[in-house]
Amino acid sequence: MPDLTEAVQLGNPLDLVDPVPDADCAVCVALGGQRAEARRLGDMTTVSDCNVEIRRHPHRP
Ligand SMILES: [Zn+2]
Repeated sequence: MPDLTEAVQLGNPLDLVDPVPDADCAVCVALGGQRAEARRLGDMTTVSDCNVEIRRHPHRP
């Protein structure tokens, strides 16, 4: 049983390294562009959404 009185350090998920879009995938490249634009506008919600989409986008090995 872990000591639940200890503070859990979750950190800020927005500080995590952004996933790199696959340069060979048009969807990921578009998401990367959308993410850059959202960041420029300070729209971190969209930045986070784009990161999730890029991470989850399936590619053949
Ligand atoms: Zn992709």
